[in-house]
Amino acid sequence: MKLIDRLSEIVGVAHVVTGGGPEGPAPWEQDWRGRSKGRALAMVRPGSTAEVADVVKLCAAEKVSIVPQGGNTGLVDGSIPDTSGTQVVMNLGRLKAVRSIDRKNMTITVEAGCILQSLHEVVEDAGFLFPLSLAAKGSCTIGGNLATNAGGTQVVRYGNARSLCLGLEVVTASGEIWSALSGLRKDNTGYDLRDLFIGSEGTLGIITAATMQLYPRAASQLTAWAALPSIHAALELLERARRVLSASLTGFELMGRFPVSMVRQHLSDLRMPALSTDDPYFVLIECSDAESESHARSLVEGLLSDAIESGEVSDAVVAESLSQVRDLWEVRESIPLAAYKEGLMAAHDISLPIASIPQFVDVTESRLLEAFPGVRISNFGHLGDGNLHYNVHAPSGESAAEFLRRYEEQIRQIVYDSVHQFAGSFSAEHGIGRLKLHWMDSYKSSVELNMMRSIKKALDPSSLMNPGCVVGGG
Ligand SMILES: Cc1cc2nc3c(=O)[nH]c(=O)nc-3n(C[C@H](O)[C@H](O)[C@H](O)COP(=O)(O)OP(=O)(O)OC[C@H]3O[C@@H](n4cnc5c(N)ncnc54)[C@H](O)[C@@H]3O)c2cc1C
Repeated sequence: MKLIDRLSEIVGVAHVVTGGGPEGPAPWEQDWRGRSKGRALAMVRPGSTAEVADVVKLCAAEKVSIVPQGGNTGLVDGSIPDTSGTQVVMNLGRLKAVRSIDRKNMTITVEAGCILQSLHEVVEDAGFLFPLSLAAKGSCTIGGNLATNAGGTQVVRYGNARSLCLGLEVVTASGEIWSALSGLRKDNTGYDLRDLFIGSEGTLGIITAATMQLYPRAASQLTAWAALPSIHAALELLERARRVLSASLTGFELMGRFPVSMVRQHLSDLRMPALSTDDPYFVLIECSDAESESHARSLVEGLLSDAIESGEVSDAVVAESLSQVRDLWEVRESIPLAAYKEGLMAAHDISLPIASIPQFVDVTESRLLEAFPGVRISNFGHLGDGNLHYNVHAPSGESAAEFLRRYEEQIRQIVYDSVHQFAGSFSAEHGIGRLKLHWMDSYKSSVELNMMRSIKKALDPSSLMNPGCVVGGG
C-alpha cells in the first residue's frame, strides 16, 4: 500500500492532503514572508498524541522524514518542507485541547496545536495571566512557541517560552510517547530533557502537549510612549525604568523612526501617538502594577517627568484608556507587517549585551552605509532583553528584489560580524531553521557544534526529524 494510503488509515482520509500543483505551492509549503517555497509528499493532520506516534512510527519504518508544523509563522524556514517532494509535513493544528487548569499549582496543560491567542483567552477567563505574547499570536501555536523558544514582548519580566514551561509530552523520533506533564517546579533527577526539546525546532521529536506556568493578573496595566533623542538615551531610560518600576516593568520596546514611519505610511488606519515624529527613537513602556491604576500612573508619570528633566526623553504620552493602550501596542506590533508591505529586506534577529547596543548601532550603521550608501535601517525590538530586529532595506527608488539578490549575503556578513565582535548572538529568538544554518560554523565553536550533533545523533539516529535544520543532516 502507498504511504499516503497508510497515513490516511491512521488519521483519516480528510486529514492527509497533497501539496500544490503546477499553479504553485500550497500555503503550508511556503514561509510566512512568501520568500521560501518547498514541496512535500503530503501534509498530515493527526488528531491525537497516539496518532502522532503512529505516523512517526510509520515514517521511521519507511525512512521518510517529518517536518513538524504549528502555525507556520516561523521566520527561518524551519516549518516548511525542502524542495525534494519526499518529506511529510505534520501539522499539529488538530491537537488544540486545553487538558486542564490547576489553580493551586497555577499551571495549564494544553495541546501543542493550541493557538497562542486562544490560550490567552482561556487563561484570562480563568482569572490568570499567561505572559508569552508576540505579534503572531493569532496564528502561532504553543508547540511552535516551545519548539522555537519564542520570546516576544514580556520577556523582560517573565522570560521566554522556556522559562514558562514546566513540563512536556513528546513523541520521540522512534514514535515512543514521553509524558512529563506533572508541573513540578523542582525535579533534579538527571539531565533536563524538557530543556533539550525546547528550542530544538522539531529536530529531536514532536511536542504534543505542555504544562505552562500561569501568573496572577495585574491590578492595572499602563502603557506609555516616549520619544527619545538617541539610542544612548534609550538605555539610560531602561536603567531608570528598571529602578523605578522594578518587577512592574513588563515591557520595554524600542522603535526607530524609520520602522514607525513605515507603519504610518502603509497602515494609515492605525491611530498613531500624537507626538513629535522628528526624534530618532521611540520607546513603548508597559507597567503591570499589583496595587492599583493610580499607583501605576504615579510611578510611570514620575518616571517620565524625571526622564524629560534629565534629557533622556523629549516628549511622552501615557495611555488614558484601554483602547489607547491597544492603539499603542498595535503600532509596535504592526511593524513586521508594514515592513512586509514596504518590500523585501535583509532581516536580522540579533541579541547583544545590553550595554554595548549603542556602540554596536553606531559601528554597524557606519559599516553598512559605507558599503551600501543609501540603505535604510529599520531598528526595533525588545530592548529590555538586548534583542534587536535590525533589518536592512534597499535604498529608496531601487528594486528591493534586485538589491537583495546582489547584496543580501554581504549585508548579513557585515551585521553578523559586528554582532560577533560585540559578543552577541546572530539569532536571538527566531531560531536557526534552514535559513541560518550556514552561519552556525562561522559563529558557534566546534565544541558546541559537536555536542549538538551528538545529541541529534543520540535522539534521532536516522535524522528523520526536520533534517537540514539547526544542525544540518538533510
Ligand atoms: C508577525 C510576526 C511576529 C513575530 N514575532 C516574534 C516575536 O516577537 N518573538 C519570537 O520569538 N518570534 C516571533 N515570530 C516568529 C514566530 O511567530 C515564532 O517562531 C513562533 O513561536 C512559531 O510558532 P508556530 O506555531 O507558527 O511554529 P511554526 O512556524 O509552524 O514552526 C516553527 C518551528 O517549530 C517547529 N515546530 C512547530 N510545532 C512543533 C511541535 N509541536 N513540535 C516540534 N516542533 C514543532 C517547526 O518544525 C519549526 O522548526 C514572529 C513571527 C511573525 C510572523
